[in-house]
Amino acid sequence: MRKPDLVTIGTVITIAGAHKLYNDKKPLNWNLEEFGKCSQWHGHNWTIDISVSGVVNRENGMLINFNKIKEIVYRLDHTSLNDTLKLPTAENLAKYLAKKILRSQSNIMQVAVTVWESDKSSATYVAQYE
Ligand SMILES: [Zn+2]
Repeated sequence: MRKPDLVTIGTVITIAGAHKLYNDKKPLNWNLEEFGKCSQWHGHNWTIDISVSGVVNRENGMLINFNKIKEIVYRLDHTSLNDTLKLPTAENLAKYLAKKILRSQSNIMQVAVTVWESDKSSATYVAQYE
């Protein structure tokens, strides 16, 4: 059988979100040492760079509608990220979004999400269909 054509699409979305980094299984001192100022509530404008690979749907000519990706990401806009994730680091946020997008459609094979929490700091997670 012929292998299907794989395509990759990309988009960048910015959201605003508050978080604090705090592991409630650990004592206060541990958290202050581990996370410093980040153990207090604060916010970021998160820049989220998303790359999706998979097989184009022949009926609509698309891998995934960009609006669908936006919808998934914008659910977190102007929220407290701690309501969605136990420990909302850039790493965990990238993983959460990559898995959510991967699971949203069966024709998606891989999703790479890079979360920028400032213009110099990012985390990337790659989720793959198994
Ligand atoms: Zn932060």
